[in-house]
Amino acid sequence: MSEENISTPSLDFIREIVAADLAAGRYDGKVVTRFPPEPNGYLHIGHAKAICLDFGVARENGGCCHLRMDDTNPTKEDTEYVDSIAEDIRWLGYDFGDTIYYASDYFEKMYECALELIRRGKAYVCDLSPEEWEKYRGNSAVPGTNPPGRSRSVEENLDLFQRMRAGEFPDGSMVLRAAIDMQSPNIHMRDPVLYRIRRAEHFRQGNEWCIYPMYDFAHCLEDAFEGVTHSFCTLEFEIHRPLYDWVLEAIDFPHRPHQYEFSRLQLSYTVMSKRKLLQLVKEHYVEGWDDPRMPTLCGLRRRGVPPAAIRNFSAGLGVTKINSVTDLAVLERCIREELNRTASRFMAVLDPLKVTLKNYPEGQVEMVQGINNPEDPAAGTREIPFGRELYIERSDFMMEPPKGYFRLAPGREVRLRYGYFIRCEEVITDAEGRVVELICTYDPETRGGSAPDGRKVKGTIHWVEKSRALPGTVRLYDRLFSVEQPGADGTDFLTQLNPDSLKTAECLLEPALASVAVGETVQFERQGYFALDRDSRPGRPVFNRTVTLKDSWAKMQGK
Ligand code: ATP
Ligand code: MG
Repeated sequence: MSEENISTPSLDFIREIVAADLAAGRYDGKVVTRFPPEPNGYLHIGHAKAICLDFGVARENGGCCHLRMDDTNPTKEDTEYVDSIAEDIRWLGYDFGDTIYYASDYFEKMYECALELIRRGKAYVCDLSPEEWEKYRGNSAVPGTNPPGRSRSVEENLDLFQRMRAGEFPDGSMVLRAAIDMQSPNIHMRDPVLYRIRRAEHFRQGNEWCIYPMYDFAHCLEDAFEGVTHSFCTLEFEIHRPLYDWVLEAIDFPHRPHQYEFSRLQLSYTVMSKRKLLQLVKEHYVEGWDDPRMPTLCGLRRRGVPPAAIRNFSAGLGVTKINSVTDLAVLERCIREELNRTASRFMAVLDPLKVTLKNYPEGQVEMVQGINNPEDPAAGTREIPFGRELYIERSDFMMEPPKGYFRLAPGREVRLRYGYFIRCEEVITDAEGRVVELICTYDPETRGGSAPDGRKVKGTIHWVEKSRALPGTVRLYDRLFSVEQPGADGTDFLTQLNPDSLKTAECLLEPALASVAVGETVQFERQGYFALDRDSRPGRPVFNRTVTLKDSWAKMQGK
């Protein structure tokens, strides 16, 4: 095998289909895909998988991908969602040009198609009551029977349907149905509803319409109108595909897009249904759609997740027809990998313990040099103030260190990162015996972190100099749910929220962190990655923890 072959990732089944279509010269060598969100919520990480596929396949093949709002359901949709969807897709790194397509722009054309179906004797108006409806439809074991409306004449159906549109009948009193096959083993083919009467204001069409097309009728037409060639959707639509094809065939549409289904992303410790996400927001279980614990793209962005990490995560998932739950740790690993390459390092003390270097000159502050990113030499260095009074992490000191603990303890010497070796000479405790300060000595010969006499220390800890330290707040986020599959087995997902998903702490930061921009993600050495939040005020930064440096959950669960 040539090297080229080894490094080329194998194509997923969808990319194979597209490549074969191109090779066969189908669709005049064009690839047009679409991403069709319903503007009734914010996009989440599951949508990102679809976006990476829809826009990715188009980009890889010199085609284009339409962003189309699937706004055929008048009651829950809103421009707030349209704007957020557009913003999130651009942030993810995909381009949909200047046009946003709207399914609702095609209402008139869809109506014409419905009239055409009626003229061809392939659709009819049906006024069964809900009880009768059940009876005629049958079920998976019992074939359905033709409802009385099926035998209406074309003229009568045209008249009724036009009057449905004109608003002559009450909501729910009639529907337009496709005349397919009441005996079909596929329930979706038993004369499915194409149009229903619904008096509801549409966010773009106002009260222009009182009949609205159903998804199965509308979606294939939208794809056909736009010249879409490959229409990707999640597996639950597989059983609807015969209807997608039937509608285009029945109208004899000259252009025939094709639908392909792939498995949806499911992530552990996460809910992804828009209904549930909306409930979390509306009932204030989280701060909003962009709460950093939400799986929404705006939440992940606010948490400090770089878009490249999400694209890499999606690429790693692959595209298959197998349903499975992906461990949240996989996403976290992608985030760490990306941030390890790109994030600048700083020192921050989240749970401060005071250290005084009794042999360091009082009032003196010197500058030591820190490396901004060991993975990226171009990131350069920075100056860090060092002085007599410092803070270290409380967990970096132990009165009685167990075996294998290499950090500070009475009489023990450690290295202060980028600073000096220090030795703990004395421990000051308060009335309750709690350690409040360490009196240490530093070795002036060890500037930069090594001793001229060759003596070694096993621990290196981070620190912040007291007089220049910047006080700030950190929000330590954890999984939003405490169980792997919230809401499984009929449990109320709200009872499975992780009570510790947010902890807030006051911290002390090295002064260079004052120049971080809102939205920028940095590494706090030995702690994790943190993004500056928009709640920050001048001189009072607020950092959101994006991820820890290691997968602490894997360790804990392995115990
Ligand atoms: P919900 O059922 O929660 O309302 P939805 O799937 O109906 O969500 P849409 O706005 O219709 O949400 O989704 C737009 C596109 O994103 C669809 O093509 C859908 O298949 C895809 N999509 C949604 N969720 C996922 C997911 N978890 N994994 C992959 N693709 C998804
Ligand atoms: Mg949907």
